[in-house]
Amino acid sequence: MMRMTVLASGSKGNSTVISSSRTRVLVDAGLSCRELLKRMSIAGEDPAQLNAILVTHEHQDHIAGLSVLARRLNIPVFFTEPTHRAWVRMLTPRTTMTYAKWLDHVQREKETRAAAVAAIAPNSELAGQLAEESRIIAGIAAGAALNRSDDPNTPPELPFDPEEEDLCAPESQQAAAQKPDPTYLPAVEYFHAGTRFSIGDIDITPFTIPHDAADPCGFVFESEGIRMALATDLGYMPPNVKSALKRIDVLLLESNHDLEMLRDGPYPWSVKQRVLSRVGHLSNHATAEFLQKDYDGGAAWIILGHLSESNNAPELARHSAEQALGNQPTLLGNRVLLAHQATPLDPLTL
Ligand SMILES: [Zn+2]
Ligand SMILES: [Zn+2]
Repeated sequence: MMRMTVLASGSKGNSTVISSSRTRVLVDAGLSCRELLKRMSIAGEDPAQLNAILVTHEHQDHIAGLSVLARRLNIPVFFTEPTHRAWVRMLTPRTTMTYAKWLDHVQREKETRAAAVAAIAPNSELAGQLAEESRIIAGIAAGAALNRSDDPNTPPELPFDPEEEDLCAPESQQAAAQKPDPTYLPAVEYFHAGTRFSIGDIDITPFTIPHDAADPCGFVFESEGIRMALATDLGYMPPNVKSALKRIDVLLLESNHDLEMLRDGPYPWSVKQRVLSRVGHLSNHATAEFLQKDYDGGAAWIILGHLSESNNAPELARHSAEQALGNQPTLLGNRVLLAHQATPLDPLTL
């Protein structure tokens, strides 16, 4: 048995529970601890049963409730090392980072990772991909230094809310929660993109995604022969993501914006540029192109997620994906669902 429960999806917060018969993990904690606990109870997921929290990347909409929830449940958090480092930097009160400064940090992390990959496999697509991302981010950082944006998808300022901590902490922790270190976690475990690891009876394969974060990842989860995957927050569909998304039974896939709505919409130009870039978010069009050309058609459900509230309409995203699948007559069995920002999706069990 495997189950996926999307608790929230979108630029105001992301979180999904993945369960096998014995193990239960939370991917991202992008809502407040209180809200996450509330949504788990609405969806019938018992927070006390969670074994770990996995983090895709350090953007606010993926980590807002992370430390409070991990401490409350006393469970380990799994990061890549660069993501953990970026998260600690973001939360360290001495460094009130501007978006531009934070991008500089992200760019250095990308450069380091590109060099590490190139040292092992000099001509690999991934090495080239990371070097390209590093150059794009340097460009965005230069623009952001001139024109500070209020991008709703990016997390420049300190997201820690002490009031939230008090309300969510069990009573015995109230005193200790007076001046907590926002980066304190009960336990931290590192994983590496491309290297499979296990939590309980779930095998997890993290894969690199192109996005303006230190070391962002998607995940494939496998237990008892069932495979579920999450791929949101990616600027485009590079070869390594296409090959990671083979033989998937339940796929949560980004369908962030409609290109015309984004172009004509309310965001400042610098933000539009970032969303559209190869380290931004996947458009309905790019998602449809993947579904039509590269997708192997194996999923029982495709969940479209991380829909922009300003630059997309659920029916546009659905129509675009269904049309792409409909163009492949063998794929009519695929059911398309939409993940929501405000309410959890009914659990999907296979
Ligand atoms: Zn996001
Ligand atoms: Zn992101």
